[in-house]
Amino acid sequence: MLGARKFLADVVRYPRNSHLHRHFMTKSTVSISPSVDASAQNEMPPRLWTTTLLFSISMLAAITVVPWYGFTHGFSVGAWAWYAFFLIANGMSITGGYHRLWAHKSYDAHWILRLFFMIFGTMSLQNSAFAWCSGHRTHHLKVDDVDEDPYSIKRGFWFAHIGWMLREYPSGKPDFTNIPDLKRDPLLQFQFKHYVPLALITNIGFPLLAGWSVGDLWGTFILAGILRLVVQHHVTFFINSLAHMWGSRPYTDSNTARDNPVLAFITYGEGYHNFHHIFAHDYRNGVRWWQFDPTKWAIVALQWVGLTRRLKRTPPFQIQRALLAMQFTRAQERLARAQEKLATMPAHEIHAPTSRHSHVEQLRQRIAHEYEHFLAAVADWAKVKEQWLEQKKREVIEHWEHANLQRRLKEIEQGLRMQRRRIRVLHAQLA
Ligand SMILES: [Zn+2]
Ligand SMILES: [Zn+2]
Repeated sequence: MLGARKFLADVVRYPRNSHLHRHFMTKSTVSISPSVDASAQNEMPPRLWTTTLLFSISMLAAITVVPWYGFTHGFSVGAWAWYAFFLIANGMSITGGYHRLWAHKSYDAHWILRLFFMIFGTMSLQNSAFAWCSGHRTHHLKVDDVDEDPYSIKRGFWFAHIGWMLREYPSGKPDFTNIPDLKRDPLLQFQFKHYVPLALITNIGFPLLAGWSVGDLWGTFILAGILRLVVQHHVTFFINSLAHMWGSRPYTDSNTARDNPVLAFITYGEGYHNFHHIFAHDYRNGVRWWQFDPTKWAIVALQWVGLTRRLKRTPPFQIQRALLAMQFTRAQERLARAQEKLATMPAHEIHAPTSRHSHVEQLRQRIAHEYEHFLAAVADWAKVKEQWLEQKKREVIEHWEHANLQRRLKEIEQGLRMQRRRIRVLHAQLA
């Protein structure tokens, strides 16, 4: 299985990028003499030819062979149908399987579903679940770290998108110590051991078989084999690149992850990446019921037929707390800007200076008051939650007491929701 291991070793890795690459090289050569240091800066990690050729040839074929065949022969409806099926099956196996089931353990799945994810996840050619999940767990733990996040956006768009897989970057070295749970799974062991034959069967055998079934062998092979592979590759890669650059940060600004409904639309819901980075164990990425997240809907629908269970949800209070904390941060920033503007403006340019000063001061006091209220609610919630857990543990609670505490928790949550509305009004006044 040396070939498979070499392939696996090749498929997970790292790229170049300008000043961050220099940062990395500088760090590792800091004790060496200046002349050595200068030459080391020009050194690039060795190229990984398997992935470089795989990505280049498939992309080249997608932009030449696909349009050429389309214009000269045309594609049948059957070929398009198989293209759509394989594209969605691959995408959902990565988001629902590799990502939310295996990397984050956000729910449990029946073996039939796990088998489906294993087969179509292999077909997506994004490496074994072992390699994918191990790298992804490191990404969450070290997010944005230029030296340790395998696809750190701080090393640039190209690196985060695809570059990290094209060279043997130290941050991309496979290290399976963070997946002891997955290593015990016989299905994933099987995939890891037989990755290359499985990848060939699914990527060549499946599209040919599908083409034969609809009487359009080559048309189906070109659409469902080549175009499908390239499209689903880059759609997934966008989650590492664009989803860390483009969008809003409603839950946390402690990392670069963004919420972006446009990306969610093409990534089966993974575009709500800001929520995902703070609450990674939640089976939802788009946590609001209206947010487009087909992966979350599929996981819930499959629960009705017994294929998924034990779905993990973040307590609503924690979500509200994160949203409010971000609103306070932004309110403070706006307030500081308003105060600074007033302080630096020549007195004669301020219209009604006394009332302007007192208006800003009034807003400051109201925000401070709301913040106190927020801290008190958080402390209150923690206390009640503790009591509730305590009671649950002892299992001696009277039923009405239990219900009472739950009602109290709900009330505090409701209180926070009201407070968010008030803060929004204050924001509008500060704008
Ligand atoms: Zn991320
Ligand atoms: Zn994740």
